[in-house]
Amino acid sequence: MRQWKYGYTIRIGEKHLRTGAVCQDSVFALEDEKCIVMALCDGIGSLPLSGRAAQLAAAAACHILRKCADINFYHHAEVPNGMMKDLLERVDRFVTGKFSEEGADRSQGDSTLAFVFVSKLFDFGFAGCLGDSAVCLIRKSGNICLTESNANLESTASLHIREPWRLAKSEAFRLGDDFFGAILTSDGMDSEIYTKNSSQVFRRAQVYFNAAQSGNVEQTLAALAERAVRQSGGELDDDISIAVLSRAVGDVIFPQDVTWLCACGARNRLENSYCFRCGRDFLTLYSRVSFAKYGGKTQFFRYANQHAALERRILDGITNQNK
Ligand SMILES: [Zn+2]
Repeated sequence: MRQWKYGYTIRIGEKHLRTGAVCQDSVFALEDEKCIVMALCDGIGSLPLSGRAAQLAAAAACHILRKCADINFYHHAEVPNGMMKDLLERVDRFVTGKFSEEGADRSQGDSTLAFVFVSKLFDFGFAGCLGDSAVCLIRKSGNICLTESNANLESTASLHIREPWRLAKSEAFRLGDDFFGAILTSDGMDSEIYTKNSSQVFRRAQVYFNAAQSGNVEQTLAALAERAVRQSGGELDDDISIAVLSRAVGDVIFPQDVTWLCACGARNRLENSYCFRCGRDFLTLYSRVSFAKYGGKTQFFRYANQHAALERRILDGITNQNK
């Protein structure tokens, strides 16, 4: 049987070091003979007790999922508003109860939640995400990132809002030979590991995932996070947390990043709204394509990128229509 490896690092942001604010990220992991579960919560920065809320929520999510590990809940996890709804309700109830025991005001602390659960008994996994933390599933059949996708949301979704499951994403999946593992991360690492409004996992995220292969996972992750912060030139000022779970044997090579082809022939990163060469607006250029029909922008271009002739025909088609 293949061995599971996991670890995480939390790096306190410069801003929090300067102001003396507590780190509001929390990661929790549990393993027993039935399952492995990891959860990562990013406290909502505007509330003073979010660090505590994040800590309680991450632990609660792990304990609740472990309690479910006796049974095969794969089909319940597949149902929209099924397992995810149950889980979010129970985590919120737990945090609210603890706050009340501690005499704290629940409205003063809240957090996001990203988690991955792996059943050792029934060969399936379950992952989910609420708010702008992210969970990247690393698979032979293609990596996918679950994260908040609605760019129009005024604020990040969190546990203690009304019906949070409506804004959550989750995925139940078979392990088989397909599943290598997962990366959980707070929103400080978007643009390094994933990007908002997309399900794309960046190729450069492979170094974080492959940290699980090193002798000391947490030390390697910490060094990588530190390097990313230094290279960002002050952009990554926030608390950063990354957790990795892997059963890969040896390093996994991630696929090339998905790109959108411009009418001028240049390839642009999916997160870029304008062509780097000619400045064309992506939204205008591709306004006639309804990406939702193809399972989203990332899925559409991932397929298109692998079929260059088709990709060119689509572009010619839409630019002719646009004339
Ligand atoms: Zn262009």
